[in-house]
Amino acid sequence: MSALFNFRPLEIPARLEPLRQDVRRFLADASSQWSGWQIGHSWTGFDREFSRQVGQRGWIGMTWPRQYGGHERSGLERYVVVEEMLAAGAPLGAHWFGDRQSGPLLLRLGSEAQRQRFLPMIAKGEASFCIGLSEPDAGSDLASLRSRASRVEGGWRLNGRKVWTTNAHLCDFMIGLFRSGGPAEVEKHKGLSQFLIDMRSSGIEVRPIKDLTGEAHFNEVTFDDVFVPDDMLVGQEGDGWAQASAELAFERSQPDRYMSAYPLLPLTVDALRAAGPQERMVARRLGEAEAELVILREMSLSILGQLVDGHSPSREAALVKDLGNLHEQRMPELVRELLDPPATVVKGNTLSELLGFLVHTVPSFSLRGGTREILRGITAKGLGLK
Ligand SMILES: Cc1cc2nc3c(=O)[nH]c(=O)nc-3n(C[C@H](O)[C@H](O)[C@H](O)COP(=O)(O)OP(=O)(O)OC[C@H]3O[C@@H](n4cnc5c(N)ncnc54)[C@H](O)[C@@H]3O)c2cc1C
Repeated sequence: MSALFNFRPLEIPARLEPLRQDVRRFLADASSQWSGWQIGHSWTGFDREFSRQVGQRGWIGMTWPRQYGGHERSGLERYVVVEEMLAAGAPLGAHWFGDRQSGPLLLRLGSEAQRQRFLPMIAKGEASFCIGLSEPDAGSDLASLRSRASRVEGGWRLNGRKVWTTNAHLCDFMIGLFRSGGPAEVEKHKGLSQFLIDMRSSGIEVRPIKDLTGEAHFNEVTFDDVFVPDDMLVGQEGDGWAQASAELAFERSQPDRYMSAYPLLPLTVDALRAAGPQERMVARRLGEAEAELVILREMSLSILGQLVDGHSPSREAALVKDLGNLHEQRMPELVRELLDPPATVVKGNTLSELLGFLVHTVPSFSLRGGTREILRGITAKGLGLK
């Protein structure tokens, strides 16, 4: 097994404890205003003012070079900050995609001008990014996407449709994957390029899509002859597929893939304590959930170590996301089993609101960022079974 999956341990050193305490102090103050429903949104919750405050404290773009507004801190320090934010259910959405995905992409492959323009804005919490990959007939089979970038004088014209784009209605920029070469039947993986797109460009229309909670956090985005100047192409033309695939190793292994329902756990423990002595079975069920979390954290940290060392552990990341999503999705059911709460949401009760929100949203956890079947396919390949 060790030759097929690499999970060398990586520990968070005790010297990072003061940083953890700093983040906790900041969150204790900020979180007093959040309802259970808001906490449920976790890293998709969108709050520009909160992101600005996080940026002011130097907790966005933490590992990036100072010349681009970063703070030259370690991946482990970033991990500590992210972990604490997720544990509190902080609204990270206004900076999350820029910090986790778009910023690192620009740092590796963007032009010098792109780095200088965008990275400091992201690090200050002042520029929000969304991810334009999925299309109506291209989700799991992303490379068959059809939205097109055509060469014109001074740049490109974009036409087509993206779907399920989280927070597109609130974001400033999208990094979008478009077909710049031949048709999908001829150049499936080769003819794709990524572009930085200003969401205020003329020709972009953003239409909300409602989810089970009745909210519309994701959207359909149509492009009708949208002009994008040459200097907004990311990296080389035709490299879009390699870029998007490399981003997934970052995207699939981080704590957001197993901590989206975490805030339920401490609230449930508090409620059980308040209810008086409990049967042994209760401690056992909570212990099982805790043990899963500890193992997922070890796996996720190990992947962080490999990414820092320049590897791209996509098989291991797929495993963490699949197991992490299973864990997150079981949490509301565990709480219902242990507390037997009312079937309807009790307004103003943090635990009840959070549970109500998560019951409606956990099914999406194993869709966003790659479905369970696709991840298991990657794992099966890793095991030599496919
Ligand atoms: C909450 C949420 C937020 C999202 N945010 C974004 C975003 O910001 N940006 C973005 O670009 N996308 C986003 N997505 C889209 C997400 O990445 C896609 O939904 C996902 O990749 C699946 O694509 P699809 O919906 O087209 O389903 P399909 O690919 O049509 O899959 C349908 C079903 O068939 C199964 N299936 C498909 N192919 C295979 C196969 N080869 N083998 C076995 N089973 C298969 C899938 O597992 C799934 O169960 C979001 C989705 C959700 C739910």
